[in-house]
Amino acid sequence: MEINVAQLPSGGYGYGFPTIRIQPLTFLGVCQYKDNYPTGDPLGSYLYDLRALIEDDQRIKECYVMDVDFLIFYKKLCTVSDDLSYQIQINCPHCGKPINKKISFSSDIHFRKIDEKIMKGAKINLNGHEYDTIVPTVNDFMKVFNLYLKYRKVTDIKMIKTIALIGNFDYQANQIESDVLGATHSDITLLMALRDLYYDRLEPIIVECPHCRDEKGERRSVTVSVESLIVDFFRELYVNSPIDASKIVFK
Ligand SMILES: [Zn+2]
Repeated sequence: MEINVAQLPSGGYGYGFPTIRIQPLTFLGVCQYKDNYPTGDPLGSYLYDLRALIEDDQRIKECYVMDVDFLIFYKKLCTVSDDLSYQIQINCPHCGKPINKKISFSSDIHFRKIDEKIMKGAKINLNGHEYDTIVPTVNDFMKVFNLYLKYRKVTDIKMIKTIALIGNFDYQANQIESDVLGATHSDITLLMALRDLYYDRLEPIIVECPHCRDEKGERRSVTVSVESLIVDFFRELYVNSPIDASKIVFK
């Protein structure tokens, strides 16, 4: 499947190619994934997902991390469902009853619109130091990520992504790391704002509970984060791609 880069969270800003190729995992791919995916190791599993995308298309390395995070989700989505719709079941936090809903890629999954201006980066002051921020591509991110894969000093992938937002890491790695990890007060607010701008671009999905209403008689709704949807995507594969009677007939 070719995805138009204009449909990615970055809006395709600055890309030198019009589309990116993402394939659903085949049976062999699913089995290998199951055997080799390093569950419980957040850095290893992120690397594993990145490599799976790069196998589909080498140009992933030139894509922004914000887009790649979405493409990891997309690859799992197209693996579990051939029409990019997805059956979810959640429990209503108000009445406890299960809510079943089919969500569809085209109508339920939206990004917060990105402003082209923020894609040029910014000047920030962190712990008294001036830095230029960058919008990291996978290539940029790997320069930072490789260091943490090797020494495992930080194992929080969001923290490593935050460090990767600051340019000039090659020359100032120690200072950048200590300014990010040791940030206090308004510096924390600044880093949270940057994370929000450059990574968390998917809008949560709002699902209405068919069983209960609030004091005003309105349907209560539940917010579902898109990232939480494909937690165990192999189980989801069976739910979302069931076989029907035409697939197997016993003699
Ligand atoms: Zn309810």
